[in-house]
Amino acid sequence: MTEKSQDIRERVEELREAVRYHSRRYYVEDAPEISDAEYDALYKELAQLEAAYPELITPDSPTQRVGGEPLEGFEEVQHAVPMLSLSNARKVEELREWDARVRRLLGEDEPTYVTELKVDGLAVSLRYENGLFVRGATRGNGTVGEDVTRNLRTIRAIPQKLSDDPPAVLEPRGEVYISLEEFEKLNQKREAAGERTFANPRNLAAGSIRQLDPGVTASRPLTLFLYGVGEGYDNYAGHSEALAALKSYGLRVNPYEVYEDIESVIEECERWAKKRESVGYQVDGVVVKVDSREQQERLGSVQKAPRWAIAYKFEPLARRTKLEKVWVNVGRTGALTPQAVLAPVNVGGVTISRASLHNEDYIKEKGILVGDTVVVERAGDVIPQVVRSIPEERTGAEYRFEMPTECPVCGEPVSRPEGEAVTRCVNTRCPAQALEHITHWSSRGAMDIDGLGEKLATRLFGLGLIKDVAGIYELEAEQLVPLEGFGEKSAENLVRAIEKSKEQPFPRVLYALGIRHVGAVTAALIAERFSGEDLLNGLSVEQLTEIAGIGEVVARAVVEYFALEDNRELVRRLMDLGLNFGAVEAAPAEGPLAGKRVVVTGTLSRPRSYFVEKIEGSGGTFTSSVSKNTDYVLAGEEAGSKLEKARELGVPVLDEAGFEELLERGR
Ligand code: NAD
Repeated sequence: MTEKSQDIRERVEELREAVRYHSRRYYVEDAPEISDAEYDALYKELAQLEAAYPELITPDSPTQRVGGEPLEGFEEVQHAVPMLSLSNARKVEELREWDARVRRLLGEDEPTYVTELKVDGLAVSLRYENGLFVRGATRGNGTVGEDVTRNLRTIRAIPQKLSDDPPAVLEPRGEVYISLEEFEKLNQKREAAGERTFANPRNLAAGSIRQLDPGVTASRPLTLFLYGVGEGYDNYAGHSEALAALKSYGLRVNPYEVYEDIESVIEECERWAKKRESVGYQVDGVVVKVDSREQQERLGSVQKAPRWAIAYKFEPLARRTKLEKVWVNVGRTGALTPQAVLAPVNVGGVTISRASLHNEDYIKEKGILVGDTVVVERAGDVIPQVVRSIPEERTGAEYRFEMPTECPVCGEPVSRPEGEAVTRCVNTRCPAQALEHITHWSSRGAMDIDGLGEKLATRLFGLGLIKDVAGIYELEAEQLVPLEGFGEKSAENLVRAIEKSKEQPFPRVLYALGIRHVGAVTAALIAERFSGEDLLNGLSVEQLTEIAGIGEVVARAVVEYFALEDNRELVRRLMDLGLNFGAVEAAPAEGPLAGKRVVVTGTLSRPRSYFVEKIEGSGGTFTSSVSKNTDYVLAGEEAGSKLEKARELGVPVLDEAGFEELLERGR
């Protein structure tokens, strides 16, 4: 492998891990850490690299999937008709290109378009049988969603019974959201009660639906708009007819218009862009759909989105305000991030007083001074950010921001390695890191300790009752009882929940350790091969990269983590406390390729993803480079260095027919 291709492979892996991590924060935990624009940039870079190097595409790459995996705790629902994402257009020119493509694919046939607002909330699918609401599900990963029927029943806009004469089976689909007014009201209430406020209406709506306790959902003023039909769509000639029917059944439907040509569609998009704030709920664009069902079927779908629809995204909302000061936050991995403290300003119906300034270089490059009048944007309507300053409005009292040389929390010196944008506190005992780590540890995706949320963790940490994650397990009910808000019962419940988390399997524990670059998926891969003891004994980067799906960046982070004595001591304490550190058995692979590692190379008659799916579906593992551990190489036309290497190492080489035969024989 050349050095360059190794670099690219690493970058792809790094991007995948980052995209997976942020998708999880966004879709599963409803708590994004970065703005949509930042996420989109990571995603785009990954997609571009994969397009340039298709051999690096794996079926589990986030570019091949919609949304996030369903949350544990909910029953899974298999969608009969997948719930897809939408392609985006950021400029009107892209709408024209889309129109040209649609027309080209339809040939003689003229399309008619339907436009409707793109509501920013959570996609759900409702199922009505003989007019009765029987089940509701989230989009999840597009194929499998979460059963949230009980929660959806608390929403008044979802009738339990449809009026008129609906088909026997009907799956209306739409977006659950919360109005801006209700969002602000709820946040004000929470603020007054000293509770954490929600970042934006989308997260609030999504978080409210995915509550294990329907009582919480019921307390949130949610509503929804329907914008399509899954199963049962074939009862209608097209989209506008389906929308009209949904309305007649008593369902809430987004305002929509029908147009004959793309220029009228563009005018409609531009009209909405100007008055988007007038609707009272968060919208981030206009969705344009081909009306005729027959035409939609002919156009079909690409990987993640239908070809017959496109979302025209609005420019981010922007407002001016004053940058009052810069607050430096210290994260779990010790990263120091500057945050803008702003004079509160209303941006698209949401009051903003904090915003992201990314990092030190960003502030310098943009020439932003503390005290400046700045422009704040809600890009993709998620995390607000300061995009520029307005130097003409300076009074002379403004000053330059300096990154502290000592950690604002523990006072130890910070370091910024050459070539990196991030300054870090490297003191592993820094309380800020410890607190963030405790919160991460108990979060849903990690050890999932019911009741130990951010607020309580902060309180217990402040009181010195929990100093680090191992300390969670040393907490006793008697220590909690005297605290305000605790009674004997609630104290015992918390201790019980903590005790119960000890049952979590090793992959979760490994993820909960919060090692850089080790997300839930990566942790599971490592835990299938190695135990906590193995990791403590010291593994090499090579041993870790042997695992399919683990690259150098991740491997190095793991090795570095276990090299630090403080971390080793923490792990030993956790082991002594009885947490699971035993390697888990990978689900036993079944099928003709069980336990076999297969490399695919060259030009084949079908897309690579087809073969990867076949390999994995037959119990095998798809790997990208040939080594002595490779069991087969499937080689198509013009296979190059991988084929040579296979021959050198004596690895059996198959052509497509041989591959299919192998699968057949093994059945
Ligand atoms: P999307 O939100 O851009 O579009 C698809 C969704 O639009 C549908 O699933 C549906 O829920 C919704 N929708 C609303 N109105 C609709 C209508 N009238 N017709 C059809 N659908 C309608 O795509 P996505 O795949 O859900 O998410 C991608 C978005 O999520 C991007 O904007 C991305 O930036 C953001 N994201 C952000 C982070 C982060 O960390 N900030 C992480 C992951 C994703």
